[in-house]
Amino acid sequence: MKYNLSIGVKKMTVIERAIESAKNRKYKLEEDLSYDISDKHRKKAEGQKEVMQVTIDALEKQIPKKPNLDQKDGNGNVVERCPNCLSFGILDYCMRCGQAIDWSEEDV
Ligand SMILES: [Zn+2]
Repeated sequence: MKYNLSIGVKKMTVIERAIESAKNRKYKLEEDLSYDISDKHRKKAEGQKEVMQVTIDALEKQIPKKPNLDQKDGNGNVVERCPNCLSFGILDYCMRCGQAIDWSEEDV
């Protein structure tokens, strides 16, 4: 085991563990790609690496992030935007990219 989740470290959610798993798999594929391997194996590893990146990107959007509050409208009111793609259409999820939005009040 590489990870020691000791006392005081936030317990990882199943989504975070899945992201870690995909990142580890991607890292291993990058390692494989650094070796002198056959074209067939290289093509397969590159395809799997791409799949891992898509997996990581999709899973990371499932972890809620605070809305981006950097922009104000003409009246000086804060405009809430997606922290990922800066779209205005956000509810519990961004309607453009699917990023989960954290509307909890603490630290805002
Ligand atoms: Zn978005």
